[in-house]
Amino acid sequence: MTNYLVVGAGLFGAVFAHEAAQRGYKVKVIEKRDHVAGNIYTKEVHGIQVHQFGAHIFHTSKKEIWEYVNQFAEFNRYTNSPVANYNGEIYNLPFNMNTFNKLWGVATPKEAMAKIEEQRAVLNGKKPENLEEQAISLIGTDIYEKLIKGYTEKQWGRKATELPAFIIRRLPVRLTYDNNYFNDTYQGIPIGGYTQIVEKMLDHDNITVETGVDFFDRKEEYLKEYAKVVFTGMIDQFFDYKLGELEYRSLRFETEVLDEDNHQGNAVVNYTDAETPYTRIIEHKHFEFGKGEKGKTVITREYPADWKRGDEPYYPVNDSKNNSLYKQYQELASKETENVIFGGRLGQYRYYNMDQVIGAALITVKNEFEG
Ligand code: UDP
Repeated sequence: MTNYLVVGAGLFGAVFAHEAAQRGYKVKVIEKRDHVAGNIYTKEVHGIQVHQFGAHIFHTSKKEIWEYVNQFAEFNRYTNSPVANYNGEIYNLPFNMNTFNKLWGVATPKEAMAKIEEQRAVLNGKKPENLEEQAISLIGTDIYEKLIKGYTEKQWGRKATELPAFIIRRLPVRLTYDNNYFNDTYQGIPIGGYTQIVEKMLDHDNITVETGVDFFDRKEEYLKEYAKVVFTGMIDQFFDYKLGELEYRSLRFETEVLDEDNHQGNAVVNYTDAETPYTRIIEHKHFEFGKGEKGKTVITREYPADWKRGDEPYYPVNDSKNNSLYKQYQELASKETENVIFGGRLGQYRYYNMDQVIGAALITVKNEFEG
């Protein structure tokens, strides 16, 4: 007998399936797309691992999660250090002494602090209540105008004054000459790509995987057939949007193979002006230190897009309106669907990074099997 149905073969579903299988349970995994690995899916093109759904850089400060993921792949020493292109001016990210030096000519942390202090005075000591105020409070008006406003408003399709402050607190601000985008202890890219991680998690005698299968074609039957369902799709869709629609942001990717060795000299270049329609260009070979065929490179332009039903949802929009609607769905779930576990970015409506997805899946595993 199969005990669990996992809907969605992304990272959350794969960790859960793997852990359940290790404990002797039989698991069936169904996936709507024709491949596993969700949005961490990578595919080799001209010897280069191409991130099909946007740049994924693994980073965590949790040793147990780093060790967990290292069971399934060896990681290289990639350190994310994107650069920002603002109308042709190049700045280092995250915001650090290199950025401040290029922008203001300051050389010491003290000079940089003084400049930031002077610029944040426009807030008159007000506690930041939205992304714009949070950004100005962290790094002042110049950086907000050149490196944040345009990018953010393109990415989220709304004014920075209408966005939650937490989004910008994802980025570090540093008074050192350190271009590492993340503060985490561990960081890297899996050698050979991400897809193998999910494939290895799912490669188990107790697991069967079917791709190209849409849960919603047979929802009621599935719920009857399986003692327990782990659902990693959109929670509002699960309930047929009956309390209303949650909002998501979508993305469109334009991938191109170029006949050159090195197109932009970095894995990630952000276009932070308001006019350029894409937010970033990724040159995939730089995630692997130039690996791949000579004379070839693969780049992807990432265009933010509005989301409507039927589009791929990439980001939950965690403002207070959507978060409170999500809470209502959660309450509905706890009342109506005892045998369904909701997980992942879409099931839990949270802007998770990969390590947080693994962490959330392992907590679910613990509650389910040891709780
Ligand atoms: N951000 C920005 N300028 C940049 C990079 C990021 O203003 O050059 C802001 C933007 O609001 C974005 C947020 O910081 O949504 C989080 O950026 P992150 O790189 O974490 O986004 P992700 O990689 O998850 O899309």
